[in-house]
Amino acid sequence: MKLILIGAPGAGKGTQAEKLIEKLGIPSISTGNILREHLAKGTELGEKARGYMESGALVPDDLIVDMLKARLSKPDCEKGYILDGYPRTVRQAEALCGMGAGIDRVVSIETDDEAIIRRMSGRRVCRDCGASYHLLYNKPEKDGVCSKCGGPLYQRDDDKEETVRARLSVFHQQTEPVKAYYEKEGILLRIDGMAEIPVVTKRIFDALGLSE
Ligand code: AMP
Repeated sequence: MKLILIGAPGAGKGTQAEKLIEKLGIPSISTGNILREHLAKGTELGEKARGYMESGALVPDDLIVDMLKARLSKPDCEKGYILDGYPRTVRQAEALCGMGAGIDRVVSIETDDEAIIRRMSGRRVCRDCGASYHLLYNKPEKDGVCSKCGGPLYQRDDDKEETVRARLSVFHQQTEPVKAYYEKEGILLRIDGMAEIPVVTKRIFDALGLSE
C-alpha cells in the first residue's frame, strides 16, 4: 500500500501516520523530519533548507525531490510507505509520478485554520525520533519526555503563531492544487479532521477499508 497524507500544518498528519504504521507495518516518510535531521547534523542540504524552513516557506522542489528519491530507494520502502508532508506542490506530485511510485490512495485531512492555530501552540515534538504530542490532546506519559524513545520534547520554531499563519497561506496557495491533481486521478479521500484523534483515525481507517 502506498499512501499520501495531505493536510495543513497541524492537521494531524504525523499523528495519523503513526496509527497507520502500526496497522499496515510500512514506514512513514516525513520530508519535514528528514530535513530537520539534516539541520541538526549541519549538512549542506540542511544549510540550504534552513532559511526557508524558519520562515515557513517551502524548500525548493529540486532539493526535496532528490532527497525523497534517495529515501524511497531504501529496502524498507519495497512493500509500501506512507508519505507525510510530500508532495506539497504539483511539481512534486508530477516528480513522484515520474519515479513510477504508483500511489494507491491520497488521504486529505481537512481542517479549519483558526483551530489549527490554537492546536499548534500546544504541539511538542521529540528531538530524537520525531514523534509528536500535544499538551492537551495527546499528552506524553511524562512531561517533556517522549513516551516512545525517552527523548526530550520541544516546541518547533515553526509552530509559533506568525510562522503558522505564513505556513497556512503557503498550504492554501501551493498545496491545495495537489488535491485537485489527485482528485482528477480518482484516488483522493477527503476526511473531516476536526475531531478528537481517535475519531479521525476511525474515519481514515473506514475510508481505506481497514479494521481498527
Ligand atoms: P513539516 O514537518 O512537514 O511541517 O515540514 C516543516 C518544513 O519543512 C516546511 O514548512 C517546509 O519548509 C519544509 N518541507 C517539508 N516537506 C517539504 C516539501 N515536501 N516541500 C517543500 N518543503 C518542505
